[in-house]
Amino acid sequence: MKGIIVGAGIGGLSTAIAMQQHHIDVKIYEASNKLSPIGAGILVPPNAMIILERYGLAEKIKHAGVCIDSTDIFSSNGRPIAQTSAHFTKNGTGYQVVAILRSTLQSILVDSLSPGALVTGKRCAYVNTKSDGIELFFEDGSSVSARYLVGADGLRSNVRASIFPDSALRYSGQICWRGLSEINLSSKWMKSLSEVWGPGIRFGFVPVGNSKVYWYATKRQEANGIDDPASVKERLLDIYSAFPTPVSEIISQTANSSIISDDLNDLRPLKSWFSKSTVLIGDAAHASTPNLGQGGAQAIEDSWVLAEKLAANTSIQNAFQQFEKLRFSKARKVTNMSWQIGKVTNLRNKQACRIRDALFRSVPDVMTRRQSRMMYDIPY
Ligand SMILES: Cc1cc2nc3c(=O)[nH]c(=O)nc-3n(C[C@H](O)[C@H](O)[C@H](O)COP(=O)(O)OP(=O)(O)OC[C@H]3O[C@@H](n4cnc5c(N)ncnc54)[C@H](O)[C@@H]3O)c2cc1C
Repeated sequence: MKGIIVGAGIGGLSTAIAMQQHHIDVKIYEASNKLSPIGAGILVPPNAMIILERYGLAEKIKHAGVCIDSTDIFSSNGRPIAQTSAHFTKNGTGYQVVAILRSTLQSILVDSLSPGALVTGKRCAYVNTKSDGIELFFEDGSSVSARYLVGADGLRSNVRASIFPDSALRYSGQICWRGLSEINLSSKWMKSLSEVWGPGIRFGFVPVGNSKVYWYATKRQEANGIDDPASVKERLLDIYSAFPTPVSEIISQTANSSIISDDLNDLRPLKSWFSKSTVLIGDAAHASTPNLGQGGAQAIEDSWVLAEKLAANTSIQNAFQQFEKLRFSKARKVTNMSWQIGKVTNLRNKQACRIRDALFRSVPDVMTRRQSRMMYDIPY
C-alpha cells in the first residue's frame, strides 16, 4: 500500500477520490464506527463545485441540494445590509453555491470510493513519521505502516499533535448552534442564504430541499457554554426574539434533538503543513472559523492539488512541498478574513453595530466581487 488517509470527513474523502482518479493506492482510516457528519447542512461554494465537477460529482450535488442565488444580510430590524452573488463564472461555465445536507454530501463522496478503501472504527492515537515512511498507531493497540500519511482528522487532529505538538486552537469568542427545521418558507427565502445581524448575535438560514431549512446561530460568550438539551430551544427563542420573521418560526419548527452547539475555534496558522512523510490537509492543516462558509471548500481544493502533486512526483517530500506552495497563501487568506468577519459580527455595542451596518451598506460592489473572486477562483 502506498498512502494512508486518517479521517473520512470532507477532506479525507475528497482526497481519496482524487487519488483514485490518479490510480494511487489509498486507504482511509476513520475513527467513527458509522459515518454521521455533525452539523445539519453545509454550503458548497463555486470553488468546491469546480473541483467536484472534475470528480464527476457536481451534477449529483446540485440535484440533491438547493442552488442559491445570493447571500443576503439584514439588520435585526429587517433592513438589508448587503447582498453578495452566489454565482461565479469560470472559463465560460457558471457555478453556484449549493446548500445541501451534510449527510447527503458525505454519502455522495463515500459512494465514489473504491470498495474496501474506507475502514471505520479505527481511531488514530499517534503517528511516527520518518523520511522513508510512517507507522500509524490506533487507540485499539493495532498499527499499520505506509509510505506516507495524509492527516485529514479535522480541527482536533491527533496526526497534527504527533508532528506539530505545539499547534494551538484559538477561541473566536462565539458559540454556534446549528439545526434543521421542518418548515415551508415563503418564496422570498427560497433562493438565498439569509443572515440577520444583531448586537453580539447572528442567525443564518438556507433551504436544503424537501421542506428542510438548515440554520446556524452565533452568540458572543465564554467558551465551553453548556446547554441543557431540554431547554435549548426556549433559550434560542429568547436570544433571537427581536429578530424578524421567519427566525422564531424556524427555531420553533426544529426538533430539540437536531440542535447541536460548538465553540467556534480556528487553528492558529501553522508555519508548515508537513513533516517528513506526513502531510496535513483540511481543518487539520488550516481550520478557519466558519464565517465565510469556506472550510470544507478549502479541504476540497487541498484534495485536488495534493493528489496531482503525489501523482507527478516520485519524491513524497517534493510532492508535499509543491502542494503546500500552491495552497498555503489562499488557505491563510481565508483563515484571516474569516477571523476578521467573526470580530465584526461579534460587536455588542448597539452604536458600533449601527456604524458597522452602515459601513457594510456602503461597500462598493467591485470590492465584494473582488472578495468573491479571491475565494471562488482557483488557479490549479
Ligand atoms: C458551524 C460551522 C459551519 C460551517 N459551514 C461550512 C460551510 O457552509 N461550507 C464549508 O465549506 N465549510 C463549512 N464549515 C467548515 C467545515 O465543516 C470544515 O472545514 C470541514 O468539515 C473540514 O473537513 P475535514 O475533512 O478537514 O475535517 P472534518 O470534517 O472535521 O472530518 C474529520 C474526520 O476525521 C475523523 N477523525 C477525527 N479524529 C480522528 C482520529 N484520531 N482518527 C481517525 N479519524 C479521526 C472524524 O470523525 C471526521 O470524520 C463549517 C464549520 C462550522 C463549525
